Amino acid sequence: MEHEMKLGFDIDDTLINLRKHAFHLYNKKLGKQVSIDIFNSLPRLEIHEPFGLSDEEGNQLWNQLIEEIYFTECPAFPDAIDTLQQLDNDGHEIYYITSRPKQYGERTKAWMKERGFPVEDARFFYGMQDEEKVKIIQQLQLDYYFDDKPVVLETLLNESVHVYIKDQSYNRHLTLPRIEHWTELKEIMEEDTK
Ligand SMILES: [Mg+2]
Repeated sequence: MEHEMKLGFDIDDTLINLRKHAFHLYNKKLGKQVSIDIFNSLPRLEIHEPFGLSDEEGNQLWNQLIEEIYFTECPAFPDAIDTLQQLDNDGHEIYYITSRPKQYGERTKAWMKERGFPVEDARFFYGMQDEEKVKIIQQLQLDYYFDDKPVVLETLLNESVHVYIKDQSYNRHLTLPRIEHWTELKEIMEEDTK
């Protein structure tokens, strides 16, 4: 029998399609129709450039819309919820580690539960800087950790945890193992425990 694993997940753009959701909101708010093809090939995580915004303006718009970006109908990636529910049912421990600001942490937790993600209160972490995630990941002694963000992943290169990149247009330069679709996770775990 497979032994029980501790798996940690970033949320935004790892389990849920937050940037794409925000991209649609930007089009709506700015009265634009920037094509999704442009979104799909963005070389950086930030989404404001195709709207003709500077970094500062982009930052302002993001902060202005943050409630809508975080707490409306952002879709989960295909099979993310089912995959995590299955892992939870199989007795694995699921941890969430998001650098969303502290003031949004509890609402984010409630939102994730509403969407159907299996969340235990003591296994939900938020409000840290990107570079601080590594400390939590070490303390929890996770077996697996999944994230999309290069600056986070780069802090984990020397850790014993199995780190996987959620594939995105802005992280293709990294050579870590990569997951494109959440249905691959079961196979990955089976392969590793052989
Ligand atoms: Mg992320």
